[in-house]
Amino acid sequence: MQMIRNDETICAPATALGGAVSLVRMSGQASFEIIRTVFFPSRKNTDLSKLKGFTIIHGEIRNRDELIDEVLISIFRAPYSYTGEDSVEISCHGSPFIVTRIMELLLRNGAVAARPGEFTQRAFINGKMDLSQAEAVADLVASGTTESHRIAIQQMRGGFSGEIAKLRSELLRFASLIELELDFGEEDVEFADRNELISMITRVKELSDRLAGSFRLGNAIRNGIPVAIVGKPNSGKSTLLNVLLNEEKAIVSDIPGTTRDSIEDTVVISGMMYRFIDTAGLRDTTDVIESLGIQRTNEKIMKASVILMVDEVLEDAVKINQRAESIRKMTEGLEKHLIIVINKTDTCDASHIEKLKSLVMPGKAESLLFISAKNNQGIETLKDSLAKLFLNENYGRNDVIISNLRHYEALTHVSDSLGRVVSGLAENVPDDLIAMDIRQAIHYLGEITGEITSDEILGNIFRNFCIGK
Ligand code: GDP
Repeated sequence: MQMIRNDETICAPATALGGAVSLVRMSGQASFEIIRTVFFPSRKNTDLSKLKGFTIIHGEIRNRDELIDEVLISIFRAPYSYTGEDSVEISCHGSPFIVTRIMELLLRNGAVAARPGEFTQRAFINGKMDLSQAEAVADLVASGTTESHRIAIQQMRGGFSGEIAKLRSELLRFASLIELELDFGEEDVEFADRNELISMITRVKELSDRLAGSFRLGNAIRNGIPVAIVGKPNSGKSTLLNVLLNEEKAIVSDIPGTTRDSIEDTVVISGMMYRFIDTAGLRDTTDVIESLGIQRTNEKIMKASVILMVDEVLEDAVKINQRAESIRKMTEGLEKHLIIVINKTDTCDASHIEKLKSLVMPGKAESLLFISAKNNQGIETLKDSLAKLFLNENYGRNDVIISNLRHYEALTHVSDSLGRVVSGLAENVPDDLIAMDIRQAIHYLGEITGEITSDEILGNIFRNFCIGK
């Protein structure tokens, strides 16, 4: 973590350049003193030091006689602000020049430039949010799809923290039972039934496993689900890719500031982002694809979560099945989805399609789809199939899903420690070793939320068990 410097008053532009309005944010104990030197309220007898929190006032930012801008300032009084400190937000006209001048003035009058994330860091230090919530703020700002937004907002509002708190309080209760036995070790008392302890800790481990297990989905939502389009040359892969990408580009390229590059090869379906892997060869319709060879295709398949295998209706069914089978072999035991897409339905009649349907054998969880990329037919069904693969995968809409690698790693440690507790209990390992693993699990949970104390375990013992009685 960065060095903490809570006594300084920090300031920073809070909005990106380019909009009609910009926001400059200042937080710290000298906020009101500093703003008084540069801001002059329109209503002359306003006393800035007497203003209540959540007040907005109109006025001018001046450098002595020079008028810099007409602005609105919002007043926040500690602890009722984002950071928990006295804060002021200046809404000015959205000109980089004005923002720079205002920043200069604030700095000259005693503020210091905030470091990246410093406002949120202060919010965490001042107990406005825990670490995982602070991290969610960054995710929220970066979220580009409905689903990534949903995860981030749930986490910021404390959904994840709630789950961690639940795990933690269960573990503390458990630890207090074990520690109590330790305290009375010489008298050889057993306060708790071992079987009960085992079932209790198994349940907690399941919770932790489930949270950790959600990371695969959470990560896919956050970074986009990797999709590989494979198949023999001329089956229509690049045509299909273009059909999938085109609608997207039409929507996004109208939003100023988005470059075509940044949306290259991603498509959002039902709020989830799909990222097409390694499409350079696809676009190039010359024989590059052949020269790239099998190895390149295999690498693509290994990187993907979804494989779209494209073939055409006039292809021999035996060959289609062979190709599908070779992909199944490669991906056996891996969590990958294969969708067999038979293209160019416009070049044959319905009876041929029916015949092909009966000859091509999709695997258990696979889809077999017939499309005409050229005529934009069957594309919606293909999108539905993609959406279905992930949206209901063991996790419902209201389940907490983790998408942060740090949380995932900590949870994996929690699960490992709890696994040792379960086997330790079953094998009658001494209490002090079990207590050690429990403490480790609590420690890792504390790493997620940013609060770790072993005093808390003691505190919990005295609260739950009235020893003096
Ligand atoms: P790729 O080599 O797999 O990327 O295949 P392309 O997308 O370059 O397509 C090869 C040829 O098939 C091109 O001439 C396309 O116009 C044509 N094609 C692609 N999709 C269809 C389709 O749905 N129907 C028909 N009739 N032709 C198609």
